[in-house]
Amino acid sequence: MDKKITDINGSWELANGIKMPYVGLGVWKSDNGEEVINAVKWALKAGYRHIDTAAAYKNEEGVGKAIKESGVPREEIFITSKLWNDDQGYEATLKAFDKTMERLQLDVLDLYLIHWPVEGKFKDTWKAMEKLYSDGRIKAIGVSNFLKPHLEELLKDAKVKPMVDQLEFHPWLVQQELHDFCKENDIQYEAWSPLMQGKLFSQDIVNDIAEKYGKSPAQIVLRWDLQHGVITIPKSVNEKHIQSNIDIFDFELAEEDMKTIDKLNKNERIGPDPNSFDF
Ligand code: NAD
Repeated sequence: MDKKITDINGSWELANGIKMPYVGLGVWKSDNGEEVINAVKWALKAGYRHIDTAAAYKNEEGVGKAIKESGVPREEIFITSKLWNDDQGYEATLKAFDKTMERLQLDVLDLYLIHWPVEGKFKDTWKAMEKLYSDGRIKAIGVSNFLKPHLEELLKDAKVKPMVDQLEFHPWLVQQELHDFCKENDIQYEAWSPLMQGKLFSQDIVNDIAEKYGKSPAQIVLRWDLQHGVITIPKSVNEKHIQSNIDIFDFELAEEDMKTIDKLNKNERIGPDPNSFDF
């Protein structure tokens, strides 16, 4: 492991040895045409080798097209997609996966996640994920928005443990206990909405730290993610922001600044609560 986190091409190893790059481009709410195609191409040009999409984002086609057109060898890029809630259940998962792969124009996916823990269904869904994994169609499987009780339930009879949990994570929502549980179980923590969907930019404390390091507030918080061992997937469709969001390997936050940001935690969510979502 690159303890110092100085390499733009660096990654953390998942429980099965697959390498997952530190920073990915998030593409939620990026239109499935020029918008997502440009964003993915700009990201690859800036050095990203990791893209985070989902069936629910309705832009897998654009992501696949951009990857094909980019000229970057497929094997260099780590691609994540997610199974939507309506498609949970054993057979439905297998079908939904095929559709995702058609849209992405891929043979093998790097990471497939269960998007939300749909009660009564996620365990059967997981069995299908395990089948796709053992068939070699996915290099790593994981979950998203699974809190500790969901993970405990899943782990009771999982043959393959989830390798990743993608969760809302930013200075207002740290969930340390969940983080510790993931660590104990070798589940890589991954941050969604790392920039608090833009709310980050009104945080004076982060702005002050940014000024001190001569970096942007986004860069400070994305670096804070990495120094916490968390993989991060900021979203942008702006070329300059895409470039600057991955330009976080030439500085290190001092322990006292890490702690100052940690103290902003107030267990406040921006997105839905995995215990009460209704979609
Ligand atoms: P985010 O926290 O990444 O914030 C994105 C917002 O910040 C956008 O409005 C963007 O224009 C702005 N921005 C980005 N870089 C900037 C910069 N350098 N300066 C100023 N503004 C900047 O929000 P997000 O899209 O919710 O989360 C990131 C990704 O996480 C998504 O795109 C998606 O891939 C994933 N996600 C997953 C789930 C899930 O349930 N698994 C939920 C939400 C998001």
